[in-house]
Amino acid sequence: MYAEFPCLPAGKRAATLPQMRPRLRYLARAALYAVLGCSVQMLPAAEIKVLERQMLDVSRLQGDGNRRDVPVHELKLTLVYFSGGNWPRDAILQATEEAAGILSQCGVRLSQIELMRVDAPQQFHDFHTPVSRLLARALHAGKPTLYFVSDTRQQPAFDAEAIGRGNSRTRPELADSVWITRAARDPGIALAHELVHVLMDSGEHAGEQGNLMREDTAPENTRLNAAQCALIRETGEKNGLLQRRAGSPGRTRPGVTGSQRGTS
Ligand SMILES: [Zn+2]
Repeated sequence: MYAEFPCLPAGKRAATLPQMRPRLRYLARAALYAVLGCSVQMLPAAEIKVLERQMLDVSRLQGDGNRRDVPVHELKLTLVYFSGGNWPRDAILQATEEAAGILSQCGVRLSQIELMRVDAPQQFHDFHTPVSRLLARALHAGKPTLYFVSDTRQQPAFDAEAIGRGNSRTRPELADSVWITRAARDPGIALAHELVHVLMDSGEHAGEQGNLMREDTAPENTRLNAAQCALIRETGEKNGLLQRRAGSPGRTRPGVTGSQRGTS
């Protein structure tokens, strides 16, 4: 079985890994791969499999299509979930639909969803940087990527977490991704909140009442102000995560920004 660890120095294999419990052994292996810079392709091919890859009709996933603003930037999302995981497909789509509706107030329109159903060992079902890096590297998913995970093993633990460019220097595979656990309250709002972190490439929070970017997600916190919308569009486009629609104005239109200010 040690043939599957081609990156591990031979002398250390028998001395450390076999005595560990399976989970620990797996994590140790993942950490070694990360440290040694080994490619996930060296893992057994059977470890991670994409069972289904589906482009969804987004016309029914536009959230609140009656928002005041005209979409000017398009967003393509890849959603990853696990066969045997605790996120039902319907719950994933419902949360995504709600998040898309919230982002539409900034002139961001969901234009494509790719849904990936993945078969992977249980260890991949939770967010944990060393293992999740391997997953992301194996999948080559389009970005931004939303991973619907069972739980987190990160410390400190968050129900949902965003990884942009600024906080991914030591884990580049995870750039432009959101990891949301099944425990997340108000998952559509949590998803929108984390996606905004990714699009803005900023971990900044807002104190404004009713603002989506307040630290705590709540059903009444859904608004984004004009400055936030501008940053989402500008940074998102600069990082290749948003595509400006042909013929859209280069800068925010006054009428649009004026209608988006959150209350205070
Ligand atoms: Zn946040």
